[in-house]
Amino acid sequence: MGDGLAEIMEQFSLIKKLLNGFDSMPEQSLASLEGAREEGRKVVGIYCIFAPVEMIRAAGALPVGLCGKKQEPISAAEAELPANLCPLIKSSYGFAITGTCPFFSAADAIVGETTCDGKKKMFEAMEKLKPVHLMHLPYNSGMPHSLAFWREEVGRFGEFLQELTGNAITTEELNRQIRIQNRVRSLIRQLHQANLGGGGIRVSGRELLAVLEARNFWADQVDYAQRLEALVRAMEESPLPPPANGSRILLTGTPIGKGSDKVLRLIENSGATVIAMENCTSLKSAWINVDEDTPHPLDAIARRYLELPCACMTPNSGRVALLKELAGLYKVDAIVDLTWHACHTYMVEAHRVGRLMNDDPGLPVLHLCSDYGESDLESLRTRIEAFLEII
Ligand code: SF4
Ligand code: SF4
Repeated sequence: MGDGLAEIMEQFSLIKKLLNGFDSMPEQSLASLEGAREEGRKVVGIYCIFAPVEMIRAAGALPVGLCGKKQEPISAAEAELPANLCPLIKSSYGFAITGTCPFFSAADAIVGETTCDGKKKMFEAMEKLKPVHLMHLPYNSGMPHSLAFWREEVGRFGEFLQELTGNAITTEELNRQIRIQNRVRSLIRQLHQANLGGGGIRVSGRELLAVLEARNFWADQVDYAQRLEALVRAMEESPLPPPANGSRILLTGTPIGKGSDKVLRLIENSGATVIAMENCTSLKSAWINVDEDTPHPLDAIARRYLELPCACMTPNSGRVALLKELAGLYKVDAIVDLTWHACHTYMVEAHRVGRLMNDDPGLPVLHLCSDYGESDLESLRTRIEAFLEII
Protein backbone atom coordinates (compact mmCIF):
# COMPACT_ATOMS: atom_id res chain seq x y z
CA MET A 1 0.00 0.00 0.00
CA GLY A 2 1.49 3.36 -1.01
CA ASP A 3 2.01 6.09 1.59
CA GLY A 4 -0.76 8.25 0.09
CA LEU A 5 -3.33 5.49 0.19
CA ALA A 6 -2.34 4.50 3.72
CA GLU A 7 -2.82 8.13 4.78
CA ILE A 8 -6.27 8.25 3.20
CA MET A 9 -7.30 4.99 4.91
CA GLU A 10 -6.01 6.31 8.22
CA GLN A 11 -8.02 9.51 7.85
CA PHE A 12 -11.22 7.60 7.02
CA SER A 13 -10.72 5.24 9.95
CA LEU A 14 -10.23 8.28 12.21
CA ILE A 15 -13.58 9.68 11.01
CA LYS A 16 -15.29 6.32 11.68
CA LYS A 17 -13.73 6.14 15.14
CA LEU A 18 -14.90 9.65 16.00
CA LEU A 19 -18.40 8.85 14.69
CA ASN A 20 -18.53 5.70 16.83
CA GLY A 21 -17.83 7.83 19.88
CA PHE A 22 -21.22 9.50 19.42
CA ASP A 23 -23.13 6.19 19.23
CA SER A 24 -22.59 5.32 22.88
CA MET A 25 -23.49 8.78 24.14
CA PRO A 26 -26.95 7.89 25.55
CA GLU A 27 -25.46 5.13 27.73
CA GLN A 28 -22.55 7.29 28.83
CA SER A 29 -24.95 10.13 29.48
CA LEU A 30 -27.06 8.02 31.86
CA ALA A 31 -23.97 7.29 33.91
CA SER A 32 -23.08 11.01 34.07
CA LEU A 33 -26.67 11.88 35.04
CA GLU A 34 -26.49 9.46 37.93
CA GLY A 35 -23.18 11.00 39.00
CA ALA A 36 -24.65 14.50 38.77
CA ARG A 37 -27.67 13.49 40.86
CA GLU A 38 -25.42 12.05 43.54
CA GLU A 39 -23.72 15.44 43.69
CA GLY A 40 -27.12 17.02 44.26
CA ARG A 41 -27.63 18.46 40.78
CA LYS A 42 -31.15 18.49 39.36
CA VAL A 43 -32.13 16.95 36.03
CA VAL A 44 -34.69 18.66 33.75
CA GLY A 45 -36.32 16.61 30.98
CA ILE A 46 -37.00 18.34 27.67
CA TYR A 47 -38.99 17.39 24.56
CA CYS A 48 -38.69 20.37 22.28
CA ILE A 49 -36.14 22.83 20.93
CA PHE A 50 -38.09 25.76 22.40
CA ALA A 51 -36.72 24.79 25.84
CA PRO A 52 -33.88 27.27 26.59
CA VAL A 53 -31.14 24.84 27.62
CA GLU A 54 -28.72 27.68 28.48
CA MET A 55 -31.01 28.65 31.36
CA ILE A 56 -31.24 25.10 32.71
CA ARG A 57 -27.46 24.78 32.71
CA ALA A 58 -26.95 28.27 34.16
CA ALA A 59 -29.12 27.20 37.11
CA GLY A 60 -26.73 24.29 37.72
CA ALA A 61 -29.21 21.67 36.45
CA LEU A 62 -28.76 19.28 33.54
CA PRO A 63 -31.17 19.26 30.59
CA VAL A 64 -31.76 15.90 28.97
CA GLY A 65 -33.76 14.95 25.87
CA LEU A 66 -36.52 12.45 26.68
CA CYS A 67 -37.48 9.32 24.76
CA GLY A 68 -40.20 9.54 22.14
CA LYS A 69 -38.84 8.08 18.92
CA LYS A 70 -39.91 4.44 19.17
CA GLN A 71 -43.06 2.47 18.42
CA GLU A 72 -42.96 0.06 21.40
CA PRO A 73 -44.69 2.14 24.13
CA ILE A 74 -47.41 3.53 21.83
CA SER A 75 -50.01 0.86 22.67
CA ALA A 76 -49.65 1.66 26.40
CA ALA A 77 -50.19 5.36 25.65
CA GLU A 78 -53.32 4.58 23.61
CA ALA A 79 -55.01 3.29 26.78
CA GLU A 80 -55.22 6.98 27.80
CA LEU A 81 -54.61 9.04 24.68
CA PRO A 82 -56.60 8.87 21.43
CA ALA A 83 -55.15 6.54 18.79
CA ASN A 84 -55.52 9.35 16.26
CA LEU A 85 -52.68 11.41 17.73
CA CYS A 86 -49.19 11.96 16.39
CA PRO A 87 -46.83 9.02 17.15
CA LEU A 88 -44.25 11.34 18.67
CA ILE A 89 -46.67 12.38 21.41
CA LYS A 90 -47.97 8.85 21.98
CA SER A 91 -44.46 7.44 22.12
CA SER A 92 -43.26 10.16 24.53
CA TYR A 93 -46.23 9.62 26.82
CA GLY A 94 -45.99 5.83 26.53
CA PHE A 95 -42.33 5.86 27.58
CA ALA A 96 -43.26 8.07 30.55
CA ILE A 97 -46.16 5.99 31.88
CA THR A 98 -44.44 2.64 31.38
CA GLY A 99 -41.30 3.82 33.16
CA THR A 100 -39.18 2.67 30.20
CA CYS A 101 -37.35 5.93 29.52
CA PRO A 102 -34.42 6.05 31.96
CA PHE A 103 -34.00 9.77 31.29
CA PHE A 104 -37.63 10.45 32.28
CA SER A 105 -37.09 8.40 35.46
CA ALA A 106 -33.96 10.42 36.26
CA ALA A 107 -35.67 13.79 35.69
CA ASP A 108 -36.66 15.92 38.68
CA ALA A 109 -38.94 18.04 36.49
CA ILE A 110 -40.14 18.32 32.91
CA VAL A 111 -40.30 21.49 30.84
CA GLY A 112 -43.07 21.69 28.27
CA GLU A 113 -44.19 24.37 25.84
CA THR A 114 -47.58 25.25 24.37
CA THR A 115 -46.67 24.24 20.83
CA CYS A 116 -49.20 21.93 19.16
CA ASP A 117 -52.53 21.02 20.79
CA GLY A 118 -51.67 17.35 21.33
CA LYS A 119 -48.43 18.13 23.07
CA LYS A 120 -49.81 20.73 25.42
CA LYS A 121 -52.61 18.38 26.49
CA MET A 122 -50.02 15.62 26.96
CA PHE A 123 -48.16 17.86 29.40
CA GLU A 124 -51.40 18.27 31.37
CA ALA A 125 -51.71 14.47 31.63
CA MET A 126 -48.02 14.16 32.51
CA GLU A 127 -48.39 16.28 35.62
CA LYS A 128 -49.49 13.23 37.56
CA LEU A 129 -46.06 11.64 36.94
CA LYS A 130 -43.60 14.51 37.45
CA PRO A 131 -43.60 18.25 38.15
CA VAL A 132 -44.15 19.91 34.76
CA HIS A 133 -43.29 23.54 34.06
CA LEU A 134 -45.21 24.73 31.01
CA MET A 135 -43.84 27.68 29.03
CA HIS A 136 -46.63 29.52 27.19
CA LEU A 137 -45.47 30.23 23.68
CA PRO A 138 -47.16 32.88 21.52
CA TYR A 139 -48.13 31.56 18.07
CA ASN A 140 -47.19 34.67 16.10
CA SER A 141 -43.56 35.55 16.65
CA GLY A 142 -43.78 38.79 14.66
CA MET A 143 -46.09 40.89 16.85
CA PRO A 144 -44.31 43.26 19.26
CA HIS A 145 -46.33 42.08 22.25
CA SER A 146 -45.44 38.43 21.41
CA LEU A 147 -41.82 39.04 22.31
CA ALA A 148 -42.79 40.89 25.48
CA PHE A 149 -45.10 38.03 26.50
CA TRP A 150 -42.47 35.36 25.72
CA ARG A 151 -39.84 37.34 27.62
CA GLU A 152 -42.14 37.16 30.65
CA GLU A 153 -42.39 33.40 30.18
CA VAL A 154 -38.61 33.10 29.94
CA GLY A 155 -38.36 35.04 33.22
CA ARG A 156 -40.99 32.80 34.85
CA PHE A 157 -38.99 29.74 33.72
CA GLY A 158 -35.91 31.24 35.35
CA GLU A 159 -37.81 31.60 38.64
CA PHE A 160 -38.96 27.98 38.39
CA LEU A 161 -35.38 26.80 37.82
CA GLN A 162 -34.02 28.84 40.70
CA GLU A 163 -36.63 27.38 43.02
CA LEU A 164 -35.98 23.84 41.78
CA THR A 165 -32.21 24.01 42.15
CA GLY A 166 -31.80 26.54 44.94
CA ASN A 167 -29.22 28.31 42.73
CA ALA A 168 -29.34 31.86 41.42
CA ILE A 169 -29.00 32.29 37.65
CA THR A 170 -26.32 34.93 37.19
CA THR A 171 -25.74 37.06 34.10
CA GLU A 172 -22.16 35.84 33.96
CA GLU A 173 -23.07 32.14 34.01
CA LEU A 174 -25.90 32.64 31.55
CA ASN A 175 -23.53 34.36 29.12
CA ARG A 176 -21.01 31.52 29.57
CA GLN A 177 -23.68 28.92 28.76
CA ILE A 178 -24.80 30.95 25.74
CA ARG A 179 -21.23 30.93 24.40
CA ILE A 180 -21.00 27.13 24.87
CA GLN A 181 -24.29 26.49 23.06
CA ASN A 182 -23.38 28.92 20.29
CA ARG A 183 -20.13 27.03 19.79
CA VAL A 184 -22.10 23.78 19.49
CA ARG A 185 -24.47 25.42 16.98
CA SER A 186 -21.59 26.81 14.91
CA LEU A 187 -19.84 23.43 14.89
CA ILE A 188 -23.01 21.70 13.69
CA ARG A 189 -23.14 24.13 10.77
CA GLN A 190 -19.42 23.57 10.10
CA LEU A 191 -19.99 19.82 10.23
CA HIS A 192 -22.46 20.07 7.34
CA GLN A 193 -20.06 22.22 5.38
CA ALA A 194 -17.14 19.87 6.05
CA ASN A 195 -19.25 16.96 4.85
CA LEU A 196 -19.39 18.37 1.33
CA GLY A 197 -16.69 18.49 -1.27
CA GLY A 198 -16.19 17.56 -4.88
CA GLY A 199 -19.89 16.83 -5.34
CA GLY A 200 -19.81 13.97 -2.83
CA ILE A 201 -20.20 13.56 0.93
CA ARG A 202 -17.94 12.21 3.63
CA VAL A 203 -20.58 10.83 6.02
CA SER A 204 -24.15 9.70 5.39
CA GLY A 205 -27.35 11.30 6.65
CA ARG A 206 -27.75 8.39 9.10
CA GLU A 207 -24.31 9.03 10.54
CA LEU A 208 -25.06 12.76 10.80
CA LEU A 209 -28.30 12.00 12.65
CA ALA A 210 -26.48 9.94 15.30
CA VAL A 211 -24.05 12.81 15.91
CA LEU A 212 -26.82 15.40 16.14
CA GLU A 213 -29.11 13.36 18.35
CA ALA A 214 -26.31 12.79 20.86
CA ARG A 215 -26.35 16.54 21.57
CA ASN A 216 -29.57 16.18 23.59
CA PHE A 217 -28.12 13.51 25.84
CA TRP A 218 -24.61 14.70 26.48
CA ALA A 219 -24.22 16.10 30.00
CA ASP A 220 -20.90 17.86 29.33
CA GLN A 221 -21.51 20.16 26.37
CA VAL A 222 -17.90 21.39 26.30
CA ASP A 223 -16.83 17.79 25.76
CA TYR A 224 -19.53 17.34 23.09
CA ALA A 225 -18.24 20.46 21.31
CA GLN A 226 -14.67 19.16 21.46
CA ARG A 227 -15.74 15.86 19.90
CA LEU A 228 -17.64 17.74 17.21
CA GLU A 229 -14.62 19.90 16.52
CA ALA A 230 -12.34 16.85 16.21
CA LEU A 231 -14.81 15.32 13.74
CA VAL A 232 -15.03 18.52 11.70
CA ARG A 233 -11.21 18.80 11.53
CA ALA A 234 -10.82 15.14 10.53
CA MET A 235 -13.42 15.61 7.79
CA GLU A 236 -11.81 18.81 6.54
CA GLU A 237 -8.42 17.08 6.38
CA SER A 238 -9.71 13.97 4.62
CA PRO A 239 -9.46 13.73 0.81
CA LEU A 240 -12.34 14.90 -1.32
CA PRO A 241 -14.99 12.20 -1.61
CA PRO A 242 -15.94 10.97 -5.09
CA PRO A 243 -19.01 12.67 -6.60
CA ALA A 244 -22.25 11.16 -5.27
CA ASN A 245 -24.11 9.00 -7.77
CA GLY A 246 -27.57 9.56 -6.41
CA SER A 247 -29.61 12.72 -5.83
CA ARG A 248 -28.84 15.14 -3.02
CA ILE A 249 -31.86 15.33 -0.75
CA LEU A 250 -32.84 17.93 1.84
CA LEU A 251 -35.12 16.33 4.44
CA THR A 252 -37.64 18.54 6.23
CA GLY A 253 -40.75 18.15 8.37
CA THR A 254 -41.45 16.62 11.75
CA PRO A 255 -38.61 15.56 14.08
CA ILE A 256 -36.91 12.20 13.57
CA GLY A 257 -34.39 10.16 15.53
CA LYS A 258 -33.01 6.69 16.02
CA GLY A 259 -36.11 4.49 15.93
CA SER A 260 -38.14 6.91 13.80
CA ASP A 261 -35.67 7.30 10.95
CA LYS A 262 -37.23 4.92 8.43
CA VAL A 263 -37.72 7.58 5.75
CA LEU A 264 -34.07 8.63 6.04
CA ARG A 265 -33.02 4.98 5.75
CA LEU A 266 -35.30 4.37 2.77
CA ILE A 267 -33.95 7.41 0.92
CA GLU A 268 -30.33 6.39 1.49
CA ASN A 269 -31.03 2.71 0.71
CA SER A 270 -32.53 3.87 -2.59
CA GLY A 271 -29.18 5.34 -3.62
CA ALA A 272 -29.77 9.00 -2.79
CA THR A 273 -27.94 11.05 -0.18
CA VAL A 274 -29.55 13.02 2.63
CA ILE A 275 -27.23 15.99 2.52
CA ALA A 276 -28.95 17.91 5.32
CA MET A 277 -32.04 17.88 7.50
CA GLU A 278 -33.96 21.02 8.28
CA ASN A 279 -35.96 19.42 11.11
CA CYS A 280 -35.59 20.03 14.87
CA THR A 281 -33.06 17.27 15.48
CA SER A 282 -30.79 18.96 12.99
CA LEU A 283 -30.32 22.41 11.48
CA LYS A 284 -33.51 24.17 12.66
CA SER A 285 -32.07 24.17 16.17
CA ALA A 286 -28.55 25.13 15.07
CA TRP A 287 -29.12 27.85 12.51
CA ILE A 288 -29.40 30.92 14.70
CA ASN A 289 -27.15 31.80 17.61
CA VAL A 290 -28.14 33.69 20.75
CA ASP A 291 -26.56 37.16 21.06
CA GLU A 292 -23.45 36.82 23.21
CA ASP A 293 -22.20 38.81 26.20
CA THR A 294 -25.09 41.22 26.46
CA PRO A 295 -25.98 42.80 29.80
CA HIS A 296 -29.47 41.24 29.43
CA PRO A 297 -28.96 37.64 28.30
CA LEU A 298 -32.57 36.65 29.06
CA ASP A 299 -33.72 39.18 26.44
CA ALA A 300 -31.29 37.62 23.95
CA ILE A 301 -32.56 34.12 24.77
CA ALA A 302 -36.19 35.19 24.39
CA ARG A 303 -35.48 36.80 20.99
CA ARG A 304 -33.60 33.81 19.56
CA TYR A 305 -35.96 31.08 20.74
CA LEU A 306 -39.03 32.93 19.46
CA GLU A 307 -37.49 32.92 15.97
CA LEU A 308 -37.48 29.10 15.67
CA PRO A 309 -39.45 28.25 12.52
CA CYS A 310 -41.73 25.50 13.86
CA ALA A 311 -45.01 24.79 12.03
CA CYS A 312 -46.84 25.56 15.28
CA MET A 313 -46.15 29.23 14.52
CA THR A 314 -48.51 31.22 12.35
CA PRO A 315 -47.37 32.59 10.00
CA ASN A 316 -44.22 30.48 9.74
CA SER A 317 -42.38 32.07 6.85
CA GLY A 318 -39.03 31.31 8.54
CA ARG A 319 -39.25 27.65 7.57
CA VAL A 320 -39.41 28.27 3.82
CA ALA A 321 -36.70 30.92 4.13
CA LEU A 322 -34.45 28.41 5.90
CA LEU A 323 -35.24 25.70 3.34
CA LYS A 324 -34.32 28.05 0.50
CA GLU A 325 -31.05 28.97 2.18
CA LEU A 326 -30.14 25.33 2.82
CA ALA A 327 -31.14 24.27 -0.69
CA GLY A 328 -28.77 26.87 -2.19
CA LEU A 329 -25.94 26.25 0.23
CA TYR A 330 -25.92 22.47 -0.15
CA LYS A 331 -26.95 22.44 -3.85
CA VAL A 332 -29.75 19.98 -3.25
CA ASP A 333 -31.62 18.24 -6.08
CA ALA A 334 -34.91 17.71 -4.26
CA ILE A 335 -36.77 17.96 -0.97
CA VAL A 336 -38.54 15.25 1.00
CA ASP A 337 -41.06 16.61 3.50
CA LEU A 338 -42.07 14.11 6.19
CA THR A 339 -45.14 14.57 8.38
CA TRP A 340 -46.17 12.22 11.17
CA HIS A 341 -49.79 11.06 11.04
CA ALA A 342 -52.18 13.45 12.78
CA CYS A 343 -49.65 16.27 12.95
CA HIS A 344 -52.01 18.97 11.70
CA THR A 345 -49.54 21.86 11.72
CA TYR A 346 -46.93 20.20 9.50
CA MET A 347 -49.62 18.51 7.39
CA VAL A 348 -51.34 21.81 6.56
CA GLU A 349 -48.02 23.53 5.94
CA ALA A 350 -46.86 20.79 3.54
CA HIS A 351 -48.88 22.12 0.61
CA ARG A 352 -47.46 25.63 0.94
CA VAL A 353 -43.90 24.39 1.45
CA GLY A 354 -44.23 22.23 -1.68
CA ARG A 355 -45.66 25.05 -3.80
CA LEU A 356 -43.13 27.66 -2.68
CA MET A 357 -40.11 25.37 -3.13
CA ASN A 358 -41.44 24.30 -6.54
CA ASP A 359 -41.81 27.93 -7.64
CA ASP A 360 -38.41 29.13 -6.50
CA PRO A 361 -35.79 27.58 -6.53
CA GLY A 362 -37.77 25.13 -8.67
CA LEU A 363 -37.10 22.00 -6.66
CA PRO A 364 -39.23 18.86 -6.77
CA VAL A 365 -40.82 18.11 -3.38
CA LEU A 366 -42.13 14.77 -2.17
CA HIS A 367 -44.49 14.92 0.78
CA LEU A 368 -44.82 11.74 2.84
CA CYS A 369 -47.11 11.04 5.76
CA SER A 370 -46.30 8.11 8.01
CA ASP A 371 -46.09 6.86 11.58
CA TYR A 372 -43.59 4.88 13.65
CA GLY A 373 -44.83 1.49 12.40
CA GLU A 374 -43.22 -0.60 9.68
CA SER A 375 -46.42 -1.59 7.84
CA ASP A 376 -46.02 1.11 5.18
CA LEU A 377 -42.33 0.44 4.47
CA GLU A 378 -42.98 -1.02 1.03
CA SER A 379 -45.37 1.70 -0.11
CA LEU A 380 -42.95 4.37 1.14
CA ARG A 381 -40.08 2.66 -0.66
CA THR A 382 -42.10 2.58 -3.91
CA ARG A 383 -42.97 6.28 -3.65
CA ILE A 384 -39.40 7.30 -2.80
CA GLU A 385 -37.90 5.24 -5.63
CA ALA A 386 -40.43 6.61 -8.12
CA PHE A 387 -39.67 10.16 -6.98
CA LEU A 388 -35.89 9.68 -7.26
CA GLU A 389 -36.31 8.34 -10.78
CA ILE A 390 -38.03 11.47 -12.02
CA ILE A 391 -35.56 13.97 -10.50
S1 SF4 B 1 -41.56 20.45 15.55
FE1 SF4 B 1 -41.99 22.25 16.82
S2 SF4 B 1 -43.10 21.43 18.59
FE2 SF4 B 1 -42.04 19.70 17.60
S3 SF4 B 1 -40.06 19.56 18.65
FE3 SF4 B 1 -39.77 20.85 16.88
S4 SF4 B 1 -40.03 22.95 17.65
FE4 SF4 B 1 -40.91 21.54 19.16
S1 SF4 C 1 -44.89 16.13 15.19
FE1 SF4 C 1 -46.55 17.64 15.06
S2 SF4 C 1 -48.24 16.82 16.32
FE2 SF4 C 1 -46.35 15.69 16.82
S3 SF4 C 1 -45.53 16.78 18.60
FE3 SF4 C 1 -44.53 17.66 16.78
S4 SF4 C 1 -45.81 19.41 16.17
FE4 SF4 C 1 -47.00 18.14 17.62
